[in-house]
Amino acid sequence: MMPRVTSSGSGDITRAAGGLGRRIPEALAPLARLAYTYRWAWAEGGPDLFRAVDPERWAACGENPVRLLEEAPLAALERAAADHGLLERAAALEALVQADLARPADPGAAQGVSAEHPVAFFCAEFGFHRSLPIYSGGLGALAGDILKEASDLAFPLVGVGLMYRQGYFRQRIDAHGRQQEYWVDTDPERTPAVRVTGADGAPLRLSVPIDGDDVVAQLWRVDVGRVPLFLLDVDLPENPPAVRWISARLYVGDPQTRLAQYTLLGVGGVRALHALGIEPGLVHLNEGHGALAALELAGPHAGEDALAAARERVIFTTHTPVPAGNDTYPPGQVLEALERWLPEAGLEPDAFLALGRTDPQNPGEDFGVTQIALRRSRAANGVSRRHGEVAREMWQGLWPGTPVDDVPIGYVTNGVHLPTWLGGPMRELLDRTFGEDWLLRADDPATWAPLEQVADEELWAVRRAQRGALVEYVRARSVADRLSRGEPRPYAEAAARAFDPDVLTIGFARRLATYKRLDLLVRNPERHLRLISGDRPVQLVLAGKAHPKDEEGKRLVEGLFTGKNEPSVAERVVYLDDYDLGSAAELVRGCDVWVNLPRPPLEASGTSGMKCTANGGLHLSVLDGWWAEGYDGHNGWALSGETASDPVAQDTRDSLELYRLLEDEIVPEFYEHDAGGLPRAWLARVRRSLMTNGPAFAASRMVRDYQRRFYA
Ligand SMILES: *Cc1c(COP(=O)(O)O)cnc(C)c1O
Repeated sequence: MMPRVTSSGSGDITRAAGGLGRRIPEALAPLARLAYTYRWAWAEGGPDLFRAVDPERWAACGENPVRLLEEAPLAALERAAADHGLLERAAALEALVQADLARPADPGAAQGVSAEHPVAFFCAEFGFHRSLPIYSGGLGALAGDILKEASDLAFPLVGVGLMYRQGYFRQRIDAHGRQQEYWVDTDPERTPAVRVTGADGAPLRLSVPIDGDDVVAQLWRVDVGRVPLFLLDVDLPENPPAVRWISARLYVGDPQTRLAQYTLLGVGGVRALHALGIEPGLVHLNEGHGALAALELAGPHAGEDALAAARERVIFTTHTPVPAGNDTYPPGQVLEALERWLPEAGLEPDAFLALGRTDPQNPGEDFGVTQIALRRSRAANGVSRRHGEVAREMWQGLWPGTPVDDVPIGYVTNGVHLPTWLGGPMRELLDRTFGEDWLLRADDPATWAPLEQVADEELWAVRRAQRGALVEYVRARSVADRLSRGEPRPYAEAAARAFDPDVLTIGFARRLATYKRLDLLVRNPERHLRLISGDRPVQLVLAGKAHPKDEEGKRLVEGLFTGKNEPSVAERVVYLDDYDLGSAAELVRGCDVWVNLPRPPLEASGTSGMKCTANGGLHLSVLDGWWAEGYDGHNGWALSGETASDPVAQDTRDSLELYRLLEDEIVPEFYEHDAGGLPRAWLARVRRSLMTNGPAFAASRMVRDYQRRFYA
């Protein structure tokens, strides 16, 4: 069987794969084993292999390979079992997975990290595939990309998170543009997750002190290639109903449940590693949600020395410059949530509360987990150069008397996992142009240099193919979304008729927080209409969720729907419901221009634009987050990133500049074709964007930066 880098729970994976293999025709056993690795998800031909078993079922079960094999009709399974081509592809993929797992661990520049002592990567959400919906947005997608890149680089890392049975909300937009929220249960048994058992063969049980209870938790293991991810879950009959709810949903509003989740992740996460026999070389906290891990790591009744030693093993990454994203709690509530844990950890309540205040001396200040994480980690970072600066300013109060520039918060700019986000045609072009194993060298600009020799014809063919695939996707999705809103059929089919594979396609998809300023795109209805209905038209694909409590964010969507019955809007502007990893991949592969309009400096990094530029799309963004370091004047377009004291004036200015860029530069450049039918200036910009942004924002660059600058 396949060797596993970290053995805890690996026997459970082997057993689950074996069990599934016995329930299907014998020849398909390799597919059952592959189903439990997720490595197929970013292997060439991996998704196609499962799709080939039963394309309809594959779509219907949300591309979940375990459900596919459990639910596909016997006739489909038998057909697959007799398909020699399919079996050969499965064998080749399994050989690739085995070779991948057999590689020795490579800690790179990291110190004190090895196969025996991996980095434990703590995060409240992980987004590596749509079939396990335990993520909400950017943070989860990034965490998923980091696990996959660590796997590709053979970097010893394990993930620690929570198994949310209901995940994040699902979104449906109604005919008035109002967001409806609903939740869907995921049964972990029917995903590539397995319950971890102990030495006695019974499911492992942990005890985590939350509020006044000893909460019982179990663990799930999911293999993301070489990287095991361990997910805590308290939905067990041993726990009272309100306790079972703790791990039900991501980012719940109720503060008591939130604090319980933080305790489960931080304290429970460290106990889980201990129970698994994993002694992490480093603990990498992402956001403050798991901050208590830094204290729990010191062991029970820890003294100063043990706490100081634990601090030397903790790295903290902050991902949000929005103050509301760093939640705080009244001291009474915190003490209640931790009433059982504090004495176990040997922590004085007052001293503990002081750790969570920016000014420890101020008893009137609320308690924040970010402050704990910053104080109890040996190093901290933001997620782009600019976010590093913003974070130093934002948290300067923790280091009174220290000049802003000397506040000890650095940065590692985010990156994206290329094999996950590249569309087939672009992947094929880059494989052919860059040679073997280029992905391991993707962070080196020299790797991308051969693009200089690729003919414009080839580059344009790739772009047309990927845009065409998106147009097909939008045609199908827009009809379904509109009919489900109760729209009349002619309206529902308007975009499906009009969306055109040769029309400039612009994407805007992201969390609909107010600061993302989606409304700038439609601020001037007249100019907006002219853009989409001229003889050089633009088609617009929008998607995104507003947090259920964010009424202003929801109003942004409603605003978009006011002009929906204008014929050109019905035809050329579509809003896709329920933005997720699946639709994100379609959008970033096919859009020609990716728009990002955050109010600076509130974008920590942003990653969706990186996904689009890797596919030969062009970025049009405020100079904030990653774009402040990515833009070079020729590889996309930029709006001023200056902060303004008057937000209304800033919005007006940015909106005018946005229209000017679209009308005067972007539309003409896209449609200006030479005698050979090629938009030469556009393609020069695409080439430049690929050659500059490709290496700079590859996840391999990010993971190696962590190794060199923070794990070393
Ligand atoms: C990449 C991604 C994000 C992050 O997008 P930004 O707005 O650029 O931060 C959010 N959601 C999903 C589903 C993604 O794939």
